[in-house]
Amino acid sequence: MIALTAAALFTPLEQIKQPLLLVEDGVIREVRSRMANEIPKGCRVIDFGDGIFAPGLIDIHIHGAAGRDVMKGDPDSLATIERFLAKHAVTSYLPTTITAPVNSTLAALESLANAIEAAGKRKDGGELRARPRGIHIEGPFLSHARRGVHPTENLLPPTIKMFERFWEAARGHIRIMTIAPELPGAPDVIAEASRRGVCVSLGHSDADFQTSRAGIIAGARHATHTFNAMRPLRHRDPGILGAVLTDSNLSADIIADGLHVDPAIVQLFLQAKGPDQAVFITDSTAATGMPDGIYRIGTLEMEVKHGVCRARGTLAGSTLTLDQAVRNVMKFTHSDLEKALRPATLNPARVAGLAGKGLLEVGVEADLVILSPEGEVRNTIIRGAGI
Ligand SMILES: [Zn+2]
Repeated sequence: MIALTAAALFTPLEQIKQPLLLVEDGVIREVRSRMANEIPKGCRVIDFGDGIFAPGLIDIHIHGAAGRDVMKGDPDSLATIERFLAKHAVTSYLPTTITAPVNSTLAALESLANAIEAAGKRKDGGELRARPRGIHIEGPFLSHARRGVHPTENLLPPTIKMFERFWEAARGHIRIMTIAPELPGAPDVIAEASRRGVCVSLGHSDADFQTSRAGIIAGARHATHTFNAMRPLRHRDPGILGAVLTDSNLSADIIADGLHVDPAIVQLFLQAKGPDQAVFITDSTAATGMPDGIYRIGTLEMEVKHGVCRARGTLAGSTLTLDQAVRNVMKFTHSDLEKALRPATLNPARVAGLAGKGLLEVGVEADLVILSPEGEVRNTIIRGAGI
């Protein structure tokens, strides 16, 4: 048994001062204040000083990092990405596909399913790696008008038959699917995916308000990179953004790099979605953690200058890391660390249906991070490894 202590712990629903966290066999056995009781005898005690314990961060939208792209799906690329993520406090993530020819998507889904199943059996030794917990499929069911960099020739109208092919290739590991609700056939596919437990997310969409509402009624319960690749909000034409920002049951995510949306819009988003429904994502690419240069996202080549990714002039994902997003939001909104952590821990875990993740409580796997009071990452612990 190992006893960890620090200055504070964010569960993140509540704060415990002078926390005592007991970890055994990679599982949290106790979470309480050390002021209440003595440390049990025989424990190895590690004191993290003025550090703060928080659940490991969860990123539900990752295309790549550290020079690698998830569409390749090979074990070596994923290991490189996962080591990089662990350094940035991410302990669980959803590799995210980009629109590609159907056969490439099917191959990627199969490789990612293998990686997810292998990660479940993995023993955490010396090297810390974030774990893939499921797949986010972004495309091909996206709007031509709001496709961003998703290749126009590979976009498809949604059909249950095509969804079924993706589902089978992924062996049921699809946890999130981004879809434009205005496409013909979308409501049926939204209903079917939801029925199978997939979190259907509205995005890359030019839908008007009513059509977006119809997508939510069909089963969609989230929205992908709110404001980006969406019909703009207008006071007489609220569109998809009007639906996303006013529905208190719908969660939504945003890229808080200060570039994809203005800091004031991040504040507006947080006010609209509130503490329960806001999620931070990175939409990170192979260029994340790398110098400027030429990289690939799916089948596309993109140029990265001053950390900004563009393919044929259009923004193509980001070079953001999730720990940086948390610190950005503290700065953009003058909020404290506790408030900024929830959209990067518990909320994404709920969106992706990851039970026992994003929350520090008795009985869950010891996936946690030790942060400085300013939100800098000091240590990452995955299933008790890394202490
Ligand atoms: Zn993306």
